[in-house]
Amino acid sequence: MGLDVRTIMVMFAMLAFMFFCLFQLAGLRVGRIRGVRQWAVANLCIGFGFSLAYFFGRTTPGHDWAVVLGVTFIATGVSLQLMGIRAFKEQPTHWQLVALFIGIIFCQSIWFNVVHPDFHLRAVINSFLFFLIYALCARVLLVKTEASLRVSYWFTGLSFAMMAMLMLARGVIIMRSPDQVIGLHVNTAINSMPFVIGCLLQFCISFGLLLMLNHRLIADVYQMASRDALTGALNRRRIEEDALRLRARCMRRGESLAIMMIDIDFFKSINDRYGHPAGDKVLCALAEIAQKSIRPDDYFARYGGEEFCMLLTATTEKEAFELAERLRLAFAEFTLMLGKERINVTVSIGVADSSDIGFEFLDLVKAADQALYRAKQRGRNQVVTYSSMAVSETK
Ligand code: GH3
Ligand code: MG
Ligand code: MG
Repeated sequence: MGLDVRTIMVMFAMLAFMFFCLFQLAGLRVGRIRGVRQWAVANLCIGFGFSLAYFFGRTTPGHDWAVVLGVTFIATGVSLQLMGIRAFKEQPTHWQLVALFIGIIFCQSIWFNVVHPDFHLRAVINSFLFFLIYALCARVLLVKTEASLRVSYWFTGLSFAMMAMLMLARGVIIMRSPDQVIGLHVNTAINSMPFVIGCLLQFCISFGLLLMLNHRLIADVYQMASRDALTGALNRRRIEEDALRLRARCMRRGESLAIMMIDIDFFKSINDRYGHPAGDKVLCALAEIAQKSIRPDDYFARYGGEEFCMLLTATTEKEAFELAERLRLAFAEFTLMLGKERINVTVSIGVADSSDIGFEFLDLVKAADQALYRAKQRGRNQVVTYSSMAVSETK
């Protein structure tokens, strides 16, 4: 195959510049997501690195400052990719380590250029150093991945891992074939193949990073669409969606599904007396207290206005009643300070479970709502279960 190293290089550089523009444009609309700027500048550095080597690199063996600078630019680019990934994952970036890596690449390149012009050894050491940084990128992506971004993390992480393997293989092959000539001036497979495969992998890496960004934006939009903006609790749409899944899970495992409907007592008068913002603070306080008291498997949502709903898996009505009582007491003890004013509020709670009503979410809501209505009738600040209502009605 007649592959020319310098042609591959110029293609590589063009691709990197194209990705620089793409990441710059993507960075305009990412909100609080970090890392995209670093990926843009990374591609700019990689593009510069290859351009330098292409335009100024010597085509005959000898001292070659363009290659020294080119390799340093490429190392800076790959390091920025790593820093961008860490920033994207909201991890500390450890820029000192990255600076050390770039420094080592630069110093050893100068050493082999000026003091000890052994380009064979330079290629081996460079390959191993790049293996290290690519392997680090792969590790950051493949370890501790968020479920919603797993596919894109794995795609990008595996591309980095393959790049690391390519660098390792290149280093080993060059090391084991001391007679092969290395450099821009020869188009042997040992020279050109790593460039072709590397070019394709860099392409995959950049697409992978864009895919990660895309998946993060989708996850953020989904998160926003499923949460109540004021209290941060799940919203009604989301709990209705989750109820379908929970229903299937509880039926499959033969577990009970309990529900709680929570309503603030005389909430309208709080708004009227202290103003709407004070009412909002009360809603947030209730949501915070409730969210602290549930298990990771349970669901807490703002069902509408000042009414909240809790879905508890593997929980009977009796167990839900106990939790509801604790919640009612915690809320009754809570005082909201508004300047010098002390606001105390109570809640009424209706509880039901699937043993009487079945697993249909709307049936559960209806039953718990009836119990809640009974709690209001009985004077508020209390918990009523649906089954106790049935008993009192038969008496
Ligand atoms: P009850 O004890 O019978 O539940 O009386 P209540 O006053 O709590 O009941 P009602 O349903 O009459 O009042 C609900 C009030 O909740 C009316 C509405 O203005 C208020 N509300 C609904 N959503 C919000 C909100 O997001 N913020 C604030 N501050 N108030 C809200
Ligand atoms: Mg109310
Ligand atoms: Mg209400």
